[in-house]
Amino acid sequence: MTAETPLLEVDGLHVAYGGIEAVRGLSLRVLRGSLVTLIGANGAGKSTTLAAISGLVRPRAGRVLLDGEDVTRWRSTRRVAAGLVQVPEGREVLATMTVEENLSLGAWHQRAHLASGLEEVFARFPVLAERRRLSAGSLSGGEQQMLAIARALLARPRVLLLDEPSMGLAPLLVDEVFKVIETIRAEGTTVLLVEQNAHRALSAADHGYVMETGEIVLEGPAAELLANTRVIEAYLGEGFDPRPE
Ligand code: ATP
Repeated sequence: MTAETPLLEVDGLHVAYGGIEAVRGLSLRVLRGSLVTLIGANGAGKSTTLAAISGLVRPRAGRVLLDGEDVTRWRSTRRVAAGLVQVPEGREVLATMTVEENLSLGAWHQRAHLASGLEEVFARFPVLAERRRLSAGSLSGGEQQMLAIARALLARPRVLLLDEPSMGLAPLLVDEVFKVIETIRAEGTTVLLVEQNAHRALSAADHGYVMETGEIVLEGPAAELLANTRVIEAYLGEGFDPRPE
């Protein structure tokens, strides 16, 4: 029996900013079609891990493999073209450009598919279709998050990397964002989700990794982590009841 090659694999990753070791020997695997979450407190190194996976920072050591291919030395643009696409923390939409112009940027490497891609995205996010000619800066926080996700989808990701998509959103909008993420995954896109909202993330995920000060301290099936005393005490807050609803 051969073990399945993960669609995304990180092996022994070290990233430092000057003297600060933000990520220290991190390894993780994301199987094809799965939703994997990386949870942990502020400053644990989650965003840095995503940045190394998408090529925005250069690791000091370790490897990033996409479908078994070593992409560690690839530029981020080449990784996007190969299907490794990140939705950045804080959304980073271009406020003075229109919704449609922001979306077009997501399809920079496949202009031939722009029209059909836009149609798909507008069907999925009717609110973006309605506001397509408005400036992205005029959208609410939740709409901007949808725009950031939609822009990433236009790049036709094989692996979608999401950095704290629920950050700063009201509970109803968090529900909406998670619904979108679960739909994307149900349609076959592999997802690596970084979140501080551990309960929501673990409830949606198949597998989870818990990160503390640059290292993975715990990993397992998401349902097991949701019931793990250490995870409950550290990340799920007081009064959280791990029993199924
Ligand atoms: P957050 O939820 O706040 O984004 P995080 O788990 O994603 O937290 P990182 O943002 O990856 O954590 O930060 C990990 C460590 O690296 C922290 O100590 C942080 O201060 C440091 N760090 C992050 N970015 C930089 C940078 N550009 N320069 C210097 N240090 C940085």
